[in-house]
Amino acid sequence: MLKLNDQLSVGGSRILIIAGACAVESLTQMKSIVEFLHNKIDVLRCCVFKPRTSPHTFQGLGVVGLQIVEQIQQTYKVPTITEVMDISQIPIVSQYADILQVGSRNMHNFELLKALGTSKKPIVLKRGFAATIEEFLMAAEYIKSFGNDKVILCERGIRSFDSSTRNVLDLGAVVLLKKITNMPVIVDPSHACGRRDLVTDLAKAAIACGADGLIIECHPEPDLSITDAAQALSLEDMGILLTKVKLVAESVGRHIC
Ligand code: PEP
Ligand code: MN
Repeated sequence: MLKLNDQLSVGGSRILIIAGACAVESLTQMKSIVEFLHNKIDVLRCCVFKPRTSPHTFQGLGVVGLQIVEQIQQTYKVPTITEVMDISQIPIVSQYADILQVGSRNMHNFELLKALGTSKKPIVLKRGFAATIEEFLMAAEYIKSFGNDKVILCERGIRSFDSSTRNVLDLGAVVLLKKITNMPVIVDPSHACGRRDLVTDLAKAAIACGADGLIIECHPEPDLSITDAAQALSLEDMGILLTKVKLVAESVGRHIC
């Protein structure tokens, strides 16, 4: 079991549930999400710096988004996670987020990883979409060797020849990582498949094969989501996912909050 801070731990019998917005869009959107989720999950996703494929699409609300996160925290006291894309963002993001996320595209950004190694915050390190297990583990080692051992590995799908799903969820990697490292391993089925109709079953499969937690994207009006609409769950479906995941967790001797 890895203690992340006074409120949070992951591993052992405990499944860590991270859920929320792909991107913070507005106070109204975040209020709807947190009102529904705050007593059902461990950590609220509140991403404000977005690594987008095109520079011409929404890049996240940035610092304005962090002010929304602050307002949400004042009311709901829920732990938060947000992505950090550059060393320069670490100080400001650390004021608002309980966990920092390194996205798939930055898994090889060694200077960022070294800087996060000197942070006191837990880090969710997402697997690069073309990274081998060895490269994934070495990226984690960059963070740990600079002094931060609160690293959570996140399998989020790898690229393949088949575009039927956005990526291919590598559950074999999850099973292997659980055997060869002591780090917690969580799974992001939302980015792995890119389709909301597959997210719940992949989440169940992840917990069944030993994952220590999940990251799930949801939105009060999924089709209106500015980013990643196709994979966003409605809040109702998010509730159904949590009920189903709870049963799978219990069947493998674990529990969610
Ligand atoms: C995200 O979680 O917001 C994200 C962009 O995912 P990934 O880095 O896995 O593509
Ligand atoms: Mn997303």
